[in-house]
Amino acid sequence: MNMNRKQFLSLSGMGIIGLGFLDPLSHMFFGRSPMAKKSLGDIMIEVKTKRLELVHTWTISRNSSDYKDNVFVKLEHQGITGYGEAAPNVRYGENAQLTTQRIQEVRDIFSQIPLYHYNNIKSELDKRITDQSCAKAALDIALMDWIGKSFELPLYKMWGLDPSDAPVTSFSIGIDTVEVIKQKVKEAEPYPVLKIKVGTDRDEEIIGAVRSVTDKPIRVDANEGWKSKEEALEKIQWLKSQGIEFIEQPMPSTMLEETAWLRERVDIPVIADEAVKNAADIPKLATAYDGINIKLMKSGGLLEALRMIHMAKALNMKIMLGCMIESSVAISAAAQLAPFVDWADLDGNLLIGNDPFRGIKVEQGHLVYPEKPGLGVMGEF
Ligand code: MG
Repeated sequence: MNMNRKQFLSLSGMGIIGLGFLDPLSHMFFGRSPMAKKSLGDIMIEVKTKRLELVHTWTISRNSSDYKDNVFVKLEHQGITGYGEAAPNVRYGENAQLTTQRIQEVRDIFSQIPLYHYNNIKSELDKRITDQSCAKAALDIALMDWIGKSFELPLYKMWGLDPSDAPVTSFSIGIDTVEVIKQKVKEAEPYPVLKIKVGTDRDEEIIGAVRSVTDKPIRVDANEGWKSKEEALEKIQWLKSQGIEFIEQPMPSTMLEETAWLRERVDIPVIADEAVKNAADIPKLATAYDGINIKLMKSGGLLEALRMIHMAKALNMKIMLGCMIESSVAISAAAQLAPFVDWADLDGNLLIGNDPFRGIKVEQGHLVYPEKPGLGVMGEF
């Protein structure tokens, strides 16, 4: 069949900037998106869903899963490739299909604004993607990987950071039976700090299981699981006797007044996670929380995470840098910001058995940065 490239792209609906959506899942949602208005020549954006298999069934107070379908982005321009990743989260009404759709809907931005004007691209993404913030994150991460590679610098160097300032990362232990929790804690032997998921009616049993096998510092995440301020206070007072560093999102994100009440009665830091997505959310939280947990999937990428870091510092709030279940792409992206923060919880890639990429490594809890530009990741797209 004789078909030139332009005819092929036109027939396939890919548009003249050559956006290849090769994954069968993606094809289902390809639709008839508007063509790019202007081409910069050779920008390619490819989107793929990959299933990440969890080493252990992952259970938190909300839900349980054996795998995660994350959406990966490959951005190519001028012979440089940037990688990005979205980890859709049901808590925020996200899924791989809608995420893929959002990425496709805004691809024209990349043909209209030069990639070096990445702050302008961020503004457009903010206007055009109002749900599926993880879709925005995938594009932002791929863009910043491309920028770093183009400048031939790791992003942390571009931002003037010393990687030795990055705090050790905790390793997360999901909710499970006593025997499995003990086993997981033993498997986590190389990690000096653990983060334990609670927010159930078995919290004492869970912490008891952890404490029966280790005296390491532990951090506790209730994932909005305690439903009243009295319950939260009682749990935290008991947890404090077990030597915990801080408590993350004790009650539902909407219970701001109750959390302020709680914070006045406990003397360990109370950290917002589900209650904070982006910089605009932070000022009102300063009355109820000591710090915030920044995640690229909530913020919509690195550039908004940077704004959040500066906003939190200006408000004298502590900063934790967290993640979803993510491959080395998104984890290596978050790690670029780690020297800015007080606590790191960047273990998403350590919980999966089939990470398609390699990037940041963790040795005894310390982040080891590859001497490579951008995110420093390599792997199979
Ligand atoms: Mg959390």
